[in-house]
Amino acid sequence: RTLNPNEPEFHQAVHEVLHSIGPVLERRSEYLDKGVLERLVEPERQIIFRVPWIDDAGKLQVNRGYRVQYNSALGPYKGGLRFHPSVNISIIKFLGFEQIFKNALTGQGIGGGKGGSNFDPHGKSEAEVMRFCQSFMNELFRHIGEHTDVPAGDIGVGGREIGYMFGMYRKITNRFESGILTGKGLGWGGAQVRTEATGYGAVFFVQEMLAVHGENLEGKRVAVSGSGNVAIYAIEKAQQLGAKAITASDSTGYVLDEAGIDLALLRQIKEVERGRIVEYANRRPGAVFVEGGNVWEVPVEIAVPSATQNELDEDSARMLVANGIRAVAEGANMPSTPEAVGVFQQAGVLFAPGKAANAGGVATSALEMSQNAARQRWSFADSEHRLRDIMADIHEASFQAAERYGVPGDYVAGANIAGFERVADAMLEQGVI
Ligand code: NDP
Repeated sequence: RTLNPNEPEFHQAVHEVLHSIGPVLERRSEYLDKGVLERLVEPERQIIFRVPWIDDAGKLQVNRGYRVQYNSALGPYKGGLRFHPSVNISIIKFLGFEQIFKNALTGQGIGGGKGGSNFDPHGKSEAEVMRFCQSFMNELFRHIGEHTDVPAGDIGVGGREIGYMFGMYRKITNRFESGILTGKGLGWGGAQVRTEATGYGAVFFVQEMLAVHGENLEGKRVAVSGSGNVAIYAIEKAQQLGAKAITASDSTGYVLDEAGIDLALLRQIKEVERGRIVEYANRRPGAVFVEGGNVWEVPVEIAVPSATQNELDEDSARMLVANGIRAVAEGANMPSTPEAVGVFQQAGVLFAPGKAANAGGVATSALEMSQNAARQRWSFADSEHRLRDIMADIHEASFQAAERYGVPGDYVAGANIAGFERVADAMLEQGVI
């Protein structure tokens, strides 16, 4: 804490992992003897840079850019870029730290990293977003590469922003290198199912947790928060599997649609018009908008928090439990506070942490990297099938690790342990670097 002051989100993420792996360290002291923990918490490299750009009024704006290259023991750094006014070094480090274990858990050859900027895309024109992305890549390009670091999207960074950044990289370097970013357009190196993967994967994970108890999603009421990339496709997959997804939200409030969210309308408003969630209630008969409301007050059996960190607190968790919640899968990164997680676990709710439940996104990004390297294109059905299998494997790895260490059903501990063991063994085998 003295080395990293004022970084509460980073401390929260580290605390959770270290707490979970206590039993592992008791059984395998070499991790302590060889300084794995001290090395693991310290990023291999942190890059902070100036991002100057000119707004539509001709005024110079300056934002701060980040790329934290956290751990490359398992492969090139891999993790998204977040553009949101709340971005600071604590947020990027917590996300990068989580990413190490998440990526390890996928079983693929990818290390952990994260980046972004405090740039706020809301209310910016198309041209301003493009100029910002170009300026951001004007510095980032020298730090990334197919074998070094492969960024992707996150909050505020979708297909549009990846396109502008890729274009700038190609211009600066005079090389078309598909493998330097993932989340690309389908016509120029992007992979089928990448857009859908995080939301789909979170719902597949719910399916796996329920199946252990002989249950399924059929007819279940589902609350989803957020209305971005993860939320939209969590809603879609929940509906395809027979559940009823009835909420979506953004930073202004939530909508409740008892008839089930109209996905086409939601996509039109969020993906095409880039509008606010209130628009959904304005256009959909029967739907209501609760301004500033807490989406977790809606009685549901399944919750998929898919907006941002610490959006679901202890009181919200208690409300969900009182209303009969059965399973929670974190589509977002660390959306539940530690107190909320405690409430769920004590009440016997099936709880999947983000590093397991939302790993489908980065796993499919790794599939995009494989296709780029082999100059191949896999079909939607084939890619979705692979995602389905990967989520089942992640569930199994987390479930089994929890059993092995005497905390059956604790997916938080299981995911942390399974991810930690893989990356820590790689670090041991590669020596002190
Ligand atoms: P998007 O930018 O597409 O959507 C984010 C959504 O969350 C928006 O509806 C946004 O509302 C809402 N939101 C963001 N910040 C806040 C806030 N501070 N308070 C309330 N609502 C907020 O992002 P994604 O869907 O890509 O990401 C959502 C979460 O999922 C993040 O935690 C991200 O790290 C995680 N994730 C994403 C992956 C991906 O593949 N995209 C992969 C793994 C995890 P508003 O527009 O009002 O800000």
